[in-house]
Amino acid sequence: DTPFSSAAADAVSSDSLTVMGGGLVGSLLALYLARRGYSVDVFERRADLRRAGAEEGRSINLALSDRGWKALEGVGIGEEVRQVAIPMYRRVMHDQQGQLTFQPYGKENQAIYSVSRAGLNQKLLDLAEANPQIRLHFNQQCTHVDLRERRLKLRDVTTNTEQTRTFQRLFAADGAFSAVRAAMQKTDRYEYSQSFLEYGYKELNIEPGPDGQWQMEKNALHIWPRGQYMMIALPNLDGSFNCTLFFPYEGENSFAALQTDEQVLAFFQKVFPDVVPLLPDLATEFFQNPTGSLVTIRCYPWAFADEVVLLGDASHAIVPFYGQGMNAGFEDCSVLDSLIEEYHNDWHAVFAAFQQRRKPDADAIADLAIYNFEEMRDRVADPRFLLQKKIESK
Ligand code: FAD
Repeated sequence: DTPFSSAAADAVSSDSLTVMGGGLVGSLLALYLARRGYSVDVFERRADLRRAGAEEGRSINLALSDRGWKALEGVGIGEEVRQVAIPMYRRVMHDQQGQLTFQPYGKENQAIYSVSRAGLNQKLLDLAEANPQIRLHFNQQCTHVDLRERRLKLRDVTTNTEQTRTFQRLFAADGAFSAVRAAMQKTDRYEYSQSFLEYGYKELNIEPGPDGQWQMEKNALHIWPRGQYMMIALPNLDGSFNCTLFFPYEGENSFAALQTDEQVLAFFQKVFPDVVPLLPDLATEFFQNPTGSLVTIRCYPWAFADEVVLLGDASHAIVPFYGQGMNAGFEDCSVLDSLIEEYHNDWHAVFAAFQQRRKPDADAIADLAIYNFEEMRDRVADPRFLLQKKIESK
């Protein structure tokens, strides 16, 4: 009995492209494909985040940099996003005594930008919805892909009903634990690895000050480097900051070691004293907010004939310490677009060239991201590093 045996295939018109996942990469990709004249169907497991209330009202932000900007500009929305992005011109390091040191990210006005994840995704979905060539389907979870028959199975998560659809070309932007990639993994000689850090992350929130202002320097990425762990904070437009604590799961200073409100408060008071007054709900948030894991996923090939291609985290999930996961996924979209042009819509050639071009870059940024964790949590606080930076910048 195959997963498809009882469901009638509901044929999708043959010129329609199927995008799995309406996250950051899937929604941007749909815009690129539609600009080339294709009709696009996007299937997204979650509810429409524009209606569901953005991640329970909490703003989570990401660092957007040059590669991401170029890809957004490619569909004409760079300027609009810039209006709601906060430039971060430098790192501000907070030591254990609350002393600050600074490292510029570049020269003069060069910066990386803090943007709201939900806000950016909403903007991309708005644009996709306004495009008559794109159809968005929410609450649709891909549960199975039959590569040989070009069919996939979708479960409506609101009604728990299933439908089967055929597809001509499937663009998988369904994230690190991609259902489409799961089907590729069953093919012969498929290369796949996943590796988790022994660290997790916890998001905490610094509210705006009483006058609605930022309680720390606004145009900066703040870091509390502490050797074996660290915390960072990025600014939001409303005067708040999102802090992320990167912390071992086990050991002396770890999630496992902090079990009570008193332990959390005492630990923060000892190692992050300057931020404690800015985190009034520290203990509550610490225990209520989930602990996220940090995975690196590598796989190959990313394409199956002229039929399936993986993009974004589905093909290269990386740890967040270079702030490049979304940026790299956005760059996937602009590179794929340029290859469609170069190979005149010959999908076999486009997909083959895409994976050959992108795989070495994806592997490189995966390694750099792990390396940068050591730099951010440890070496940025090393006086020799600060001295060397001063010499380099002379
Ligand atoms: P996702 O964002 O995971 O989106 C996948 C979409 O597919 C989701 O909407 C999901 O609901 C949907 N989906 C999943 N499974 C299915 C299914 N079976 N059927 C249908 N739909 C499905 N990157 C940066 O560039 N800068 C940063 O500063 C940065 N900071 C980060 C901080 C943290 C703590 C983490 C964890 C990541 C960070 N990243 C950052 C990485 C960034 O979040 C990812 O690279 C980016 O979200 C990848 O986008 P994506 O669309 O490929 O995948």
